[in-house]
Amino acid sequence: MLEPNRTRDIEDVIDRYAAEAETLLAELVAIPSVNPLFPGIAAGEFEGGERRVNEVLGERLRDVGLETHFVEKAPGRPNLVAVRSGTGTGRSLGLNGHVDTVAPPSKDERLFPDPWKAEVRDGVMYGLGAADMKAGHAAMWLAMKALKEADVQLAGDIQIHAVVGEETMSHELGTSAVIEAGFVVDGALILEPTSSASDVMALSNAAPGNYLFNLTVRGKATHWASRNQAIRAGGLGDEIGVNAIDKAVYVYNAMRQLEEQWAFSKSHPQFAPGAFIIHPGVLHADIGIAAAPYFPDRARFDYLLSFPPGEKAEDIVTEIEAHIHTASQLDPWLRQHPVEFGWEDTWPPAYTDPESPFATAVLGSRNSLASAESGIDPLDAPSALGAQTDASFYEARGIPALVCGPGDLKYAHSAGEQVDLSLVPMAAKLIARAALDWCR
Ligand SMILES: [Zn+2]
Repeated sequence: MLEPNRTRDIEDVIDRYAAEAETLLAELVAIPSVNPLFPGIAAGEFEGGERRVNEVLGERLRDVGLETHFVEKAPGRPNLVAVRSGTGTGRSLGLNGHVDTVAPPSKDERLFPDPWKAEVRDGVMYGLGAADMKAGHAAMWLAMKALKEADVQLAGDIQIHAVVGEETMSHELGTSAVIEAGFVVDGALILEPTSSASDVMALSNAAPGNYLFNLTVRGKATHWASRNQAIRAGGLGDEIGVNAIDKAVYVYNAMRQLEEQWAFSKSHPQFAPGAFIIHPGVLHADIGIAAAPYFPDRARFDYLLSFPPGEKAEDIVTEIEAHIHTASQLDPWLRQHPVEFGWEDTWPPAYTDPESPFATAVLGSRNSLASAESGIDPLDAPSALGAQTDASFYEARGIPALVCGPGDLKYAHSAGEQVDLSLVPMAAKLIARAALDWCR
């Protein structure tokens, strides 16, 4: 149970310093910490942005009594670990947030001319990274400020992991590097945006895994006018030419068939039936140049699939390749010219047992904030999140991890990125309550 007086003292400080947290958030937005490996970014253009965010956060967190460390796996891109020491007898709490952002929206898409100049309108702050996820960092600082001002001594440590590289799935440079450096915690809360208008401070314990992959179907180039010879009875068939688009459609249909099977074979109690998908995102076919008077001799699909917690990425690879291989046996050309797969990138699924002590504690802390005024509804259990987060990499090392934070996911990675500023002190209160309850 939380002591009501102590909680009130802490929350008075949070309310008193909320404006300072907004100033900090605007300062963080002003630092262009675009992930330097983000697609479409010119090399060197955003170098040092992540480091600058972590320098600013390091200074602010030292001011409120935390000890700071830097874990630099990729040169020039240090992670910040800030530790608030407890008396040493309690459980530790990790608070995780990435400091990188996606690329800025294009000039015609922007709502405001400068994505790094925070604009506040009617209690909402607009700016790149405001929701995803610098508001989470502002909330972490505000919570630490309040614990200090209210003179709270906890039994367990709090560790803030301010990590680089999340937006390009570079966890080995960010969250995984921090954990491998020895910064292990008993439970981790990821402050990614989970606050939609209808579901304020949703708490998530599960997310699907995903895999980005491509496949190439080969054809045989020839003059377009030979199509009848290639496909009609009495012609020469594959000998004269094979249109890679025709073969790609065959492969596409086989993949669709597998996707239909997945609606039944891939399930998880926390996901709606049919939640796991094999999404074709790009199809490109030609002879090396875009020229319709030829049979294209190559077709390439880029797919992104999702799969349930409990399944392994390597088993998904085996399943997809086996299915396409089997389907290809019914087509003489594909039998002799097997589809080529490129397995590009995977993010493991996330799952923390909703009945675990950590999930129960954080759910209780979150629900204790429920009221008509806060807009938070009590939840029976944590729920699944559609997007991947660094929670997966704590769980991979046996650390329970949950996701809950300020900002609405629908504005993340969007031209109108924004955060409702009332959610920053709300998230700080969640952090403080969770710390009081867990770090005992
Ligand atoms: Zn994010």
